[in-house]
Amino acid sequence: GKGIAVFTSGGDSQGMNAAVRAVVRMGIYLGCKVFFIREGYQGMVDGGENIIEANWSSVSCIIHKGGTIIGSARCADFREKEGRLKAAKNLVQKGITNLVVIGGDGSLTGADLFRQEWGSLLDELLGRNEITAEQREKYKVLQIAGLVGSIDNDFCGTDMTIGTDSALHRIIEAVDAIVSTAYSHQRTFIMEVMGRHCGYLALVAALTSEADYVFIPEDPADVNWPEVLCDKLVQERSVGQRLNIIIVSEGAIDRNGKPITAELIKKVVVENLNQDTRITVLGHVQRGGNPSAFDRVLGCRMGAEAVMALMEANEHTKPCVISLEGNQAVRLPLMECVQQTKAVAQAMEDKNWELAVTLRGKS
Ligand code: ATP
Repeated sequence: GKGIAVFTSGGDSQGMNAAVRAVVRMGIYLGCKVFFIREGYQGMVDGGENIIEANWSSVSCIIHKGGTIIGSARCADFREKEGRLKAAKNLVQKGITNLVVIGGDGSLTGADLFRQEWGSLLDELLGRNEITAEQREKYKVLQIAGLVGSIDNDFCGTDMTIGTDSALHRIIEAVDAIVSTAYSHQRTFIMEVMGRHCGYLALVAALTSEADYVFIPEDPADVNWPEVLCDKLVQERSVGQRLNIIIVSEGAIDRNGKPITAELIKKVVVENLNQDTRITVLGHVQRGGNPSAFDRVLGCRMGAEAVMALMEANEHTKPCVISLEGNQAVRLPLMECVQQTKAVAQAMEDKNWELAVTLRGKS
């Protein structure tokens, strides 16, 4: 059978294990030899014990676990040709010509480059006598399928990335917990949530927790936001509310591109309203803990679809990313999605927020 390897790369997220499990089991079911690569690209470059064959039971009891049991890493070596040569040799030695990469846009970009270079990497290895002519011929094409694991939901092409739903559950639990203590002491809480350039987590958390105010990067606040915020908080208190909740995305900014941090908001509230104000930064709690049912199912569906895509691919098939489109798992061209995601990030950097939102929406 065909050799398939699965690995997780970049930041972890809940639901990655469900995807790994699905790749292993679908692969075995279809008669493939399936391998784990530990610690992302680093394990591929280092080889040895980092690339091991998986069996049906090696993925038992992982679907409910957060993080990634096969480890993830950022890997400088893979950015260099010498590192990719080592990785290619390690894969050829194991008979692996299909990769399922679970990561963010960086990891997917690396995979695409690897596939493009594959032929020339093998030629070079052959020239150095590190692989045989027979191996060069037998393993001449590398197929790639990508899955996006990220709590930020910042990838163009998919309605949801693996991990976002679980992170939202964690955030909502935290806000609910804060609300009860804020009520007792009539406090105002500012809660900082993750998301980098993407305000999805902050926005959905604010909507579902009845927060009073939210700051997100895509809709930068007018420079008079302190007044608007204070008016809103005063109004809420005047109708009998005993507390206020403000959600701030870690990438929040004003119209001049100046960061709006939890500390800055606190200063505004304390100086203008003299409210008892506290900050809670949720941090990596959002990325930890068990995956939600949604993320488990998403990981399973995407992992299975990735294997199907690899099995149906021929040498002319372009690498794909498995996406969720209106509750269907679909295959989209990998590099187009990565490029659009990068275009959004660029538009945000250029302070062209309307363009960023349009580009993200179009995906
Ligand atoms: P996250 O969204 O969590 O940041 P990511 O996949 O975007 O995930 P990166 O740190 O950008 O995370 O990339 C992960 C790894 O992928 C890098 O450490 C590197 O090994 C590899 N990689 C990224 N970009 C490239 C590239 N252009 N060429 C080769 N390898 C790359």
